[in-house]
This record gives sequence, C-alpha cells and structure tokens, in this order.
Amino acid sequence: MAADLDKVYALIHTRDNGNAAACDRPSLAQCQFNYSRVVKELMGKPRVKAYSMPILVEIRIDPFDKKPYLDVCLLNTRYVKPPKGAKPWGGRGMKVPKGKYNVNLNKYNRCFAIMGVPWSKLIDTDIRIETKCTIEEALARLLWELTFDGWTEEKAKEKTAFIMERIKEAEKEIKAGKCITLPPKKKGGLKIVIPDVVNKQIMDIINKPVKCKVTSSCGTCWGNGLWPDGTAPMGPMDASDGMPTIACPECGANPNPNGK
Ligand SMILES: [Zn+2]
Repeated sequence: MAADLDKVYALIHTRDNGNAAACDRPSLAQCQFNYSRVVKELMGKPRVKAYSMPILVEIRIDPFDKKPYLDVCLLNTRYVKPPKGAKPWGGRGMKVPKGKYNVNLNKYNRCFAIMGVPWSKLIDTDIRIETKCTIEEALARLLWELTFDGWTEEKAKEKTAFIMERIKEAEKEIKAGKCITLPPKKKGGLKIVIPDVVNKQIMDIINKPVKCKVTSSCGTCWGNGLWPDGTAPMGPMDASDGMPTIACPECGANPNPNGK
C-alpha cells in the first residue's frame, strides 16, 4: 500500500504547530525536510525479521481531556486479562498479596511504547491499523512517535540511554527515601511517589516558562544559523538535535554545517 508522503508531512506539520513553542514551530517546508530525511533513513535500513510485537494503530481516549486520539504502540500478542476482581499491585521481588495482580508483569500489559526500540529492529514489522483512518494518518502518527526522541536512530538511542539513566537514578532515590509521597486521592487508592530528580524537573518547568532563548544579537538568526533551504532561522531545539544548518549571512553562525 502506497502512502502520499506530502499528505503525511502536512498532517505532522499541523500537529506540531499545535504543540511547539513559537521558536521551534517549523514551517511546512522544514517539516518536509526533517521527515523526508527520517523516511530516507528508514527506507535504507537492511531487512530484518519482524519485531516480537506488531505495531498497533488504534483510537484511544485521553485520560485527561477525555478526547479520542490516534495512538501507536506495540501490541503484546501474549497479553492476558488480569484475574477477575483482582486489584493492581506494583511491588517488586515480593509475593503478590491476595486479591491483587502484579502490574509489572509483561503479560498483563496489552501495549508497549515504541519509544526506546531501535528503528532498525522495527523496520520490517507488521502494522495493524485497527481503526478507520487513512494510511497517511497512521503513518504520520507512527513517524511522529519514532522521532519523539531524535531525528535519527542514533540520536534516539542516545536519548533513550539518557532517560534510562534518569530512571535508575529515580529508583535509587526512592529506595533512599529521597522523594515526596502524596497520599491517595481516595481511601484505598494508590500513593504517588515523586523522586527528587523528577520533582526538580517539574519545578524547573513550572518556574521557567518556555521561551525562545536568544543567544545572539544577530538580527537574522537566533545564533543557530539557518535551515538548509534558507527560509528561516534554526530553532534552539532542532539545532541541539543536530539538524543541518547553513551559515547565517549576517553573523556566520553555522552549528551543524549541511552535508557533513
Ligand atoms: Zn545570524
């Protein structure tokens, strides 16, 4: 089945413009540029056997705003429903208390995140579209998800390794009592434990509203040079992700020279 890639890029562009800070809001041309590089990298991957779980595209309901959205995940074909009436329990290395089931067991999780799985392992995996959507909508969601951690497989791997380190740090902190514990909302509910490393990040986000860091006095760019098509200044996030740039005609900034 062939997809119209221009339609795919337009869909991603619309979605991104709703999420990004003004200085990181790409134009349609930039979005096409970014994602066509991703598609090129993916198409150039060597054939491999399918990943142990197929890719699932389905509609889900957002738990916060209760609105439906198109979701992409890995479908656990060995999923089993938890025992009837059993309550979720999340301890580790202990016996599961009576009337509860261990949420950490893979078999009780129907879906797994795509994030963190190397692109080259997913490349020849079946995609199951289990909702009425166009192939372009499904592909837009999938490409968006794949690039959540970086614009290349290599960048995504680095980011995943970084996140895994933070998770280990958080686990250590919880064991050492370096965390805040919030009481359950209702009697018998679950406590919320926030390790200090996470708490610090939350406070940083609250205290420092997202703004476009202007690191140069240049009137043409933000100190990160221009997009390779020369249409606009490179945003700080894309620049730190290593997106190729061309030299700014005014200040000469060119952090990621195109073609290297
Ligand atoms: Zn400049």
